[in-house]
Amino acid sequence: MRQSRLFLNTLRENPADADVVSHQLMIRAGYMRQLTAGVYSLLPLGYRVLSKIENIVRREMDAAGAQEVLLPAVQPEELWLQSGRRADYGNLMFSLKDRHDRPMVLGPTHEEVITSLIQNEIRSYRQLPVTLYQIQTKFRDEARPRAGLLRGREFRMKDAYSFDSSPEGLDESYHAMYDAYCRIFERMGVDYRAVDADPGAIGGKGGSHEFMVLSDAGEDTIAACTACTYAANVEKASAQPLPVADTSATPAKETVPTPNTKTIDDLVDVLDVRPEQIFKVVVYMADGQPVAACVRGDHEVNEVKLKNFLDVRQLELATADQVLKATGHPVGFVGPDTGLPIVFDPGVLSVADGVAASKDTGFHDIHVAPHRDFKVTKTADIRVVANGDLCPECGQPLAFHRGIEVGHVFKLGTKYSTPFHAAYLDENGKEQTILMGCYGLGTTRVLPAVIEQCHDDAGIVWPIAVAPYQVHIVPVSVRDEMQMKAAESLYHRFYAAGVEVLLDDRDERPGVKFADADLIGIPVRVTVGKRISDGDVELKLRKTGDVEVLSVEKAFEAVLGIVK
Ligand code: ATP
Ligand code: MG
Repeated sequence: MRQSRLFLNTLRENPADADVVSHQLMIRAGYMRQLTAGVYSLLPLGYRVLSKIENIVRREMDAAGAQEVLLPAVQPEELWLQSGRRADYGNLMFSLKDRHDRPMVLGPTHEEVITSLIQNEIRSYRQLPVTLYQIQTKFRDEARPRAGLLRGREFRMKDAYSFDSSPEGLDESYHAMYDAYCRIFERMGVDYRAVDADPGAIGGKGGSHEFMVLSDAGEDTIAACTACTYAANVEKASAQPLPVADTSATPAKETVPTPNTKTIDDLVDVLDVRPEQIFKVVVYMADGQPVAACVRGDHEVNEVKLKNFLDVRQLELATADQVLKATGHPVGFVGPDTGLPIVFDPGVLSVADGVAASKDTGFHDIHVAPHRDFKVTKTADIRVVANGDLCPECGQPLAFHRGIEVGHVFKLGTKYSTPFHAAYLDENGKEQTILMGCYGLGTTRVLPAVIEQCHDDAGIVWPIAVAPYQVHIVPVSVRDEMQMKAAESLYHRFYAAGVEVLLDDRDERPGVKFADADLIGIPVRVTVGKRISDGDVELKLRKTGDVEVLSVEKAFEAVLGIVK
């Protein structure tokens, strides 16, 4: 491609509305433009990178035995009522009416469509196992679209679905996809982690893993062991249980006035205690009913764990009014004994001499011992793991990292095949329900995730596997006949050798050309300048900045070596 013909505008300034590096760079380097919140046009360079990413995904899916299909984006809402997920997705779904007033939605994901398809097509165990995938545009009306392509409202995803006749078969299909994901991210050249995850709205109880690109721009936090391979999303992560305290010497309970204490910090100040001595009670509305959760004052309630434990659809923090109505106490004065259904995190049992809100508003009890001074009936791990926690598997310290979720694989079991009656006849002619797995990978999210890891102050630094072009030829002066002749000749030779090459044939100042080259980030640059009179060019690697002066012939061979 000749850069003079390339549809590309680079910008000198960062766009005002972009505070995440990958977003800034994609706009500045002319990879994309915004149409409206969370909706973007990919321009030639951006689309080339996306195509590279999707081709790597496609090749690894094919190699794992999955077959490519293309499912519709427009879906009857009815399918979502049948699976029971319409309410879970709520406003996240773009919904519309067709001309006959029939409710339709734009697909945020395709479990419903594929299961209803399979239900009609699979009859016998002989047709199983099968894994189908597609690479397609998805629509989610995200509450907070952010950071450009990282969280869009229209984005592209590779989604695969496996169908099996036995739990062992499902395990195998799942592992084939898991391994394919590992190969995909390795080939792209990014630093990633596969972590234990909560299935969220996709559901299924068989287990799930997220693939995270490690980056501070990520919205997820990963807890990873510093010694073994344990790694989990903090939504899911657990820690070694804390030792249960000996309360045999705890002094007798006393009640003390604590007016105007609303928070743990207030109590710490007024009573001169440590946060970990306080029994913190948080009230939630679970499917409309008030429920309390009790954790140690220095711990946070993990709402994902609590929601799973309660097995409810909706879990929200109760408002101040709801707290007052449900407990008779204002926020800050709800104790473990308020008559509401309550779940205790086992961490509260590590407190020997604690503080809890009293029966009377405006007072707290001190020298409180669990079991002795309040009943601990239901316990469950409902807290967020924190600094200082130990690995649940090996007992060594956990460390925390930020990550961008680029992929998520799930064992669904029969979550969708049951409501859609997706069944097959086994060897004995008996009807059995199909076991499913599903496997998502956000291709338009991978693109900025790679940039988050691969950039410097001057711009993007593409790994060669996903770069829009592999080589950038930059003649310093297009008015110099000798330079242009050498540049053109190299350009044609690279082209003929199957190397993806961009030739900066613009009549621009060298400073402008070099700045643009660094910004758009092509991994190998061949600069053709004054040295061409001795038959030499400069070969520069974008990543290291290393420059080598080589003869044209040697430079040509070196580039072939790097590219192949
Ligand atoms: P998130 O927690 O980030 O909202 P999710 O868990 O809802 O994502 P899944 O339903 O697991 O997403 O979708 C599979 C993959 O699709 C994700 O791993 C991610 O790579 C991608 N993805 C999901 N939502 C978006 C979005 N709004 N923009 C871009 N990619 C997305
Ligand atoms: Mg997910």
